[in-house]
Amino acid sequence: MSEDQLSALTEKILACEACHLKDSRTKIVPGIYGPVNGLCFIGEAPGYYEDKQGVPFIGRSGQLLDNMLADIGMKREEDISILNIIKCRPTTDEGKNRTPTESELRFCGERWLYKQLSILSPRLIVTIGGIPLKFFIPSAAVTKYVKKAFDTDLGIKLYVSYHPAYILRNYNLMEEYSEHFKDIKNLYDKLLNEQGIDQPKKQVLGSHSEQKSLTDFFG
Ligand code: SF4
Repeated sequence: MSEDQLSALTEKILACEACHLKDSRTKIVPGIYGPVNGLCFIGEAPGYYEDKQGVPFIGRSGQLLDNMLADIGMKREEDISILNIIKCRPTTDEGKNRTPTESELRFCGERWLYKQLSILSPRLIVTIGGIPLKFFIPSAAVTKYVKKAFDTDLGIKLYVSYHPAYILRNYNLMEEYSEHFKDIKNLYDKLLNEQGIDQPKKQVLGSHSEQKSLTDFFG
């Protein structure tokens, strides 16, 4: 049932032309769906490569994220969902990546992200960087809240982490970043235990590249 709901929702996202960001995108990036009642990483918006391929967190940042997940025995899609608040790439007049505005975040996030979360019903959200954190907790600053967990108004626990691109620019934080993933695994296991849920795992039929071609088909 959830799979059908997610497919139906994804088709709607892939057809969305509700805001001006439709003009700067190459492909819409709906996200990667892991198991229901699972773990969900949330970033801000697609960048250059994500926009080209329709897949979130690829390139060097995505590789670092995947490596950190592998260290705690997890894989994207099989064990975790990866979503962005905004589904279309915001660009400058020169065609470069830019930080999304507050109103762009609210508009797309309330339109699609909340619906995705309501179907996926994650036990734990991990915010990747400062912008997703502020989306859920407007008064929060990542430097002050990093490595901490909070309850959100959605009734979902939230853990604050860095964006992998930030770690690639600040290699001295790599060890701390690795600690974040251990925290995430421990917290997630604890929440599942408390709720009497076995760790959910999704049966993934296609490889990552097959998933890309599915997105190509829709995009
Ligand atoms: S950014 Fe969001 S609301 Fe705007 S066109 Fe893309 S999917 Fe639709």
